[in-house]
Amino acid sequence: MKVVALAGGVGGAKLVDGLASLLLPDDLSIIVNTADDFEYLTLKISPDLDTVCYTLAGLANPVTGWGRLDETWQVFKAVGSLGGPDWFRLGDHDLATHLVRTQCLNQGQTLSGITQAFCRNWGIRHPVYPMSDDPVRTIVNTVDGESLGFQIYFVKRACQPVVESFTFQGAKDARPVPEALQKIQQSDLVIFAPSNPWVSIDPILSVPGYREAISEKPVVAVSPLIGGKALKGPAAKMYRELGVQPSAAAVADHYREFLAGFVMDRIDQGQLEKIERWRIIALVTDILMKDKQSRIRLAGEVLEFGETILNRSR
Ligand code: GDP
Ligand code: CA
Repeated sequence: MKVVALAGGVGGAKLVDGLASLLLPDDLSIIVNTADDFEYLTLKISPDLDTVCYTLAGLANPVTGWGRLDETWQVFKAVGSLGGPDWFRLGDHDLATHLVRTQCLNQGQTLSGITQAFCRNWGIRHPVYPMSDDPVRTIVNTVDGESLGFQIYFVKRACQPVVESFTFQGAKDARPVPEALQKIQQSDLVIFAPSNPWVSIDPILSVPGYREAISEKPVVAVSPLIGGKALKGPAAKMYRELGVQPSAAAVADHYREFLAGFVMDRIDQGQLEKIERWRIIALVTDILMKDKQSRIRLAGEVLEFGETILNRSR
């Protein structure tokens, strides 16, 4: 079975890590949100791409959920002591990633090419693609009339502003990475990882071409919400502010046009019937990934569920 997974950062990376333990590099490709990307201290930073790659390479910091294992902070401290910006924490090793990426981008290389080279270097065998080599930027429009770059909203303002809507700046003119689009076309199954639907998966779907290609394929999504709550980040808060009660069913509804299957937590069993009424097949299981073993266990269940769905439609 050939699988393509769509992912943002922390939640997406965990499932993708489990999938990568079970599928050969030929059978799993990963397409990552880059609408969180921004410039900081002149560096070009791709937070979700780095989270996914560090996780697959076993270099991720499991405590913070972002950045690298065994990180040091010499440069960050020195920048702060010079009065430089310190609202986004960059560790010394992480900084090396941004320095090299920025230099390569400035020399005219593509983000997908640079990512491929980094992955080779880090021993990642499954193909990881940024959603686009063109810039797409999530702008958070707030009820107070502000338009905030995503990292300003997410990190500097700690997700406090109340969301009114999102704009994916540049999306209309962005092109999918051709190999990523081709992987979808050649796939048997597309998986939406348990990432933030609003600001991790929607930006990928906003790049012209993906939506159409994915519509042709069976899609299984894993809920990022358990018991109406996000494990980390503002997904539930965003649903509330946009006038939707956060729940597994709300996520299934969000992706309704695509879904053949939906994976949700036992706690949310009560919403099963509602979701199945939408002609979506649901799998109820434990969707919390607290360690490597549970990532692999959930990934295995999702793949088996995907196989069942494929067999039904044959
Ligand atoms: P970000 O870009 O780093 O914010 O990461 P994502 O968008 O990929 O993931 C954020 C989402 O992951 C949040 O809504 C979390 O609820 C979800 N998440 C984190 N850990 C888990 C987990 O173990 N299981 C599930 N099902 N969702 C998770
Ligand atoms: Ca992100």
